[in-house]
Amino acid sequence: MTALDLLLPSSCAGCGRRGTACCATCLAGFGPPTQIQVPGVGPPVWALAAYHGAARELVLAFKERGARPLVAWFGALVAAALVAVGPPPWTLVPAPSRRSAARDRGGDHMLRIARAVHVAAVAPVLGLAAGVRDSVGLGAGARRRNLEGRVVVGGRPPPGTVVLLDDVVTTGATAAACVRALRGCGVRTHAVLVLTSARLRQSG
Ligand SMILES: [Zn+2]
Repeated sequence: MTALDLLLPSSCAGCGRRGTACCATCLAGFGPPTQIQVPGVGPPVWALAAYHGAARELVLAFKERGARPLVAWFGALVAAALVAVGPPPWTLVPAPSRRSAARDRGGDHMLRIARAVHVAAVAPVLGLAAGVRDSVGLGAGARRRNLEGRVVVGGRPPPGTVVLLDDVVTTGATAAACVRALRGCGVRTHAVLVLTSARLRQSG
C-alpha cells in the first residue's frame, strides 16, 4: 500500500461503494469458519465464505486485479478464524501459486495474505514445479494429474498447528496435493483454511 492509496478515496471491490477498499456489507459475507466436506484432502477443511457474490469479487479483485489494500481485511479474517481451526501457536503454509501466475500478479498472493495474519508464523515452504497448468476449466481428475508430484517442499515449517491457507477450494486437488507433499516430509497438516469455497452454499 502506498501513501496515495490511503489518501485517495477508493471503492469497495465487492460492490463498488465509494470510500473504502471493502465495505462492511461485503465484509459480512465472510462468516466464521465453516467446516466443509472435501473428499480426499485428509485434514478438516474450513471456509469463510461461499465462492459467490461479493466474497468471490473480493477474492478475485485481490488475486487477479491487484487490489492490494484488501490484504489487511483478509489477514484479519484469517486471524479471527484460526482460533476455531486449532490451538495456537499457528503456522500458516500458503498454498503455492504457479510461478508464471505469481509473476503476472506481482507476487504470491496467498503468501501476502499469510504475512498479514499477525497472530501466526508463516512458512512459505511449498512451491510448484514447472509444468503445472492453470487449473481453470479442468475437471477433478485432470486437476489431480496436473499436480501429481509437482508440489515441492522447500523446508520444514516451525512446530505448531500447521494450517494450509488458500483462496478457494473447488475439487480439493490443490489442498490434497499440498497435504500429501507435506506429509511426505513428515509434516502433519492440522487443517486447511480457505477464504472461499465453491462447495459452501451461500447464506443470505
Ligand atoms: Zn461492498
